[in-house]
Amino acid sequence: MTHLPGIVVTGASGRMGRMLIRTIVESDRAQLVGCVERPGHDWIGQDVGLAMGGAALDVTATDDPLEAFARAQAVIDFTAPEATLEFATLAAQARLVHVIGTTGMSETQIEALAPAARHAVIVRAGNMSLGVNLLTQLTRKVAAALDREFDIEIIEAHHRHKVDAPSGTALMLGEAAAEGRGVNLADVADRGRDGITGARKEGHIGFSAIRGGDIVGEHDVLFAARGERIVLRHVATDRGVFARGALTAALWGQDKAPGQYDMIDVLGL
Ligand code: NAD
Repeated sequence: MTHLPGIVVTGASGRMGRMLIRTIVESDRAQLVGCVERPGHDWIGQDVGLAMGGAALDVTATDDPLEAFARAQAVIDFTAPEATLEFATLAAQARLVHVIGTTGMSETQIEALAPAARHAVIVRAGNMSLGVNLLTQLTRKVAAALDREFDIEIIEAHHRHKVDAPSGTALMLGEAAAEGRGVNLADVADRGRDGITGARKEGHIGFSAIRGGDIVGEHDVLFAARGERIVLRHVATDRGVFARGALTAALWGQDKAPGQYDMIDVLGL
């Protein structure tokens, strides 16, 4: 078993962290070699299998990422922007593949990943599922095929705990639509309308976010014109799709040159 690529999960106790632990443990392509949580978390020092209420997994949660990274070939990171930046520096030092699922990173934070990507492979995507990455490609194509008479709106829905809006996936779809139209998303994005906003501007791309209950993730890309509408929709019902995508990315990155990649590269779409 020791020849299988060793994976560290950061944010191990989170919604995605737990799903990643299960996915890696059940996989015959990789092994779980470390779990990182933030200092002071009650999982620190505990076996992560027991902490999840199941059988022991022989992996103890630590708040020392360097110690965990030293044993691994890849780190899968679904945490928070500041934490992800810290992990990127450490993963580059250890020459690990860094799979970043964390969303809500600012442009400045994304730019700050560049030095790490000179030394190690980074795969970052706002959504790791095959279906959404396919939807991204379809969105680009449909946006390129339709003229500006079609208003583009992106509607997303997520669970009540999500802290960022619009979702990373919605922004990814917005980028794809803007690329298809040959425009810059930053110049045409309408995020969060409220009050007397005036009529919709032609060529703009609008975003709406719904938050509630335990919704895993739903995205509609709406192309609306006079007399007709096209809706491209993806519905995730199980976080396992993101975890399996992230594991695929970690394995894919093993023999790649340092640099920044996304799931379109991994899936060869
Ligand atoms: P969550 O709040 O349940 O989990 C985040 C975990 O990270 C927590 O356990 C927290 O303690 C831990 N953490 C925070 N700072 C840390 C640090 N410095 N060191 C170690 N651990 C730290 O959130 P979640 O629902 O699991 O989502 C996590 C992130 O992943 C969010 O940004 C979310 O939007 C994103 N996400 C991405 C995808 C994708 O496919 N790319 C899918 C789902 C969620």
